[in-house]
Amino acid sequence: MKPKVIVIGGGLGGLSAAIRLAVAGFEVQLYERNAGLGGKMNQRRLGAYLFDTGPTLLTMPFVLDELFAVAGFDRQLLLPLTRLAPLCRYFFADGSRLDAHADEARMLAALKDFAPGETESYRRFIQYSARIYQRASEVFLFTPLHEFRKVLRPHFWPSLWHLAQIDPLRSMHRAVDRHFTDPRLVQLFDRYATYNGSDPYQAPATLNIIAYVEHVLGGYYINGGMYRLVEVLREIASKLGVGLHSGRPVKKIVHDGRKVLGVELEDKSESADYVLCNADVVETFNTLIEGFARRRAALNRLEPSLSGMVFLWGISLPLQELEQHNVFFSADYQSEFNCLVHERRAPDDPTVYVAISAKADAGHAPSGGSNCFVMVNMPYLQEENQWQIAKVRAAVLRRLRKGGLDLEAHIEYEEIITPDDFYGMYRTNRGGIYGIASNDRSTAFKRPPNRSRDLRRLYFAGGSSHPGGGIPLVLLSGKMAAELITEEADNC
Ligand SMILES: Cc1cc2nc3c(=O)[nH]c(=O)nc-3n(C[C@H](O)[C@H](O)[C@H](O)COP(=O)(O)OP(=O)(O)OC[C@H]3O[C@@H](n4cnc5c(N)ncnc54)[C@H](O)[C@@H]3O)c2cc1C
Repeated sequence: MKPKVIVIGGGLGGLSAAIRLAVAGFEVQLYERNAGLGGKMNQRRLGAYLFDTGPTLLTMPFVLDELFAVAGFDRQLLLPLTRLAPLCRYFFADGSRLDAHADEARMLAALKDFAPGETESYRRFIQYSARIYQRASEVFLFTPLHEFRKVLRPHFWPSLWHLAQIDPLRSMHRAVDRHFTDPRLVQLFDRYATYNGSDPYQAPATLNIIAYVEHVLGGYYINGGMYRLVEVLREIASKLGVGLHSGRPVKKIVHDGRKVLGVELEDKSESADYVLCNADVVETFNTLIEGFARRRAALNRLEPSLSGMVFLWGISLPLQELEQHNVFFSADYQSEFNCLVHERRAPDDPTVYVAISAKADAGHAPSGGSNCFVMVNMPYLQEENQWQIAKVRAAVLRRLRKGGLDLEAHIEYEEIITPDDFYGMYRTNRGGIYGIASNDRSTAFKRPPNRSRDLRRLYFAGGSSHPGGGIPLVLLSGKMAAELITEEADNC
């Protein structure tokens, strides 16, 4: 008989793991509490406007290619991608703008006009960022870091020997600031800390790896909309025989104190040889696992990542002055993060991100209209939140107006997603979007591992476990958890 795995949660980490486990010969049953699969990768239609409500940017597409290949499907055929050019249009508070490119010649040409003295700094910064990628990615992104027998393999010795080159001791901001003299470029590269919900003034400079990932490996759009990824993964999982049960919340992970025995659903208990949990790890210990008070307390002491507020605006304008991805920077980045991370309130002058998928897929908005996904960073939830939706909305509109974009009178449709909604919809720890913040030097080690330390046969995949949040990383997390289960089953 095939060993059976129950997967809790149909986010990208859960789907990635379920597909791999099915390929490896397990019986896989996936339970998702929401009506649809995909977790934070979600979509919403408002009138004739279609929105991706979660991720808008794909990086490291080779991670997807490998998943499709393992499952025996052709990614290029099923899920065509477009490499973004430009990556993003940046609007700075002084009125200047820059189109950033994942193409060195075009980026250097853009910088020549924007900040002529900085072209050499950019080249050096990207070389530095490439070094971090070469030294860090194998150990910190592609390997289950907490499995010492894997990390200590001779293959990794060069990476471990050169660990200082990943720049773990100074802050991301300090390293960026040492490379550039133009404060606008410092702000641009500091922003990459928010790709995993962290603060550039505290996060280790190792996070400058993200600049290499985006500027060299490139940023991508999934043709037809980002949600296509969920649709295609669902199809693949289903063809491989994964039992997909949506609208079925798991109420409890059943265990005997040493190992997991299965799960409890609303109407029945189901036993399993392994449980792979894609739900947030902190929430899982808070609500689904009885006992283990010390682990629960330790997990709750970890700092959650930033949350966000999203405005889905159907705008009756073509917005020709915008690209598919746009950022309107605040005037004072340090004070913005001071509000978000230390005072835990919404900044009065937020940096605003605007993505318009209709620039690539005209069918996502009515003719002459724009489907604006507008997002700002927000603090994670507290007992009493220091913000009001109306004030955040006004601050967003003000920042856009300062950047030359007056949208308010042209909003035909509107829906707002708040940090409370992120908790309500996906049960993320205190509404944080990316799991645990990387605001201290040792977060990579403190982030929950893919194999539970407390219960045998319990595994974790998703943004709250290793290697962290973001599409490629949660897919890798699913890969690592599935491989660990397969190894354990092979050794039984
Ligand atoms: C607004 C926003 C913008 C983003 N932008 C980007 C971007 O541009 N690029 C990028 O790479 N990443 C981005 N991300 C991050 C990315 O979306 C996430 O890191 C990733 O999708 C999380 O996947 P996951 O596997 O952790 O699962 P999640 O998406 O967290 O899904 C977990 C699933 O588990 C389910 N679940 C929870 N508890 C239970 C239970 N008890 N029983 C059954 N099911 C349960 C939940 O309902 C959910 O569906 C963004 C996220 C958001 C919210």
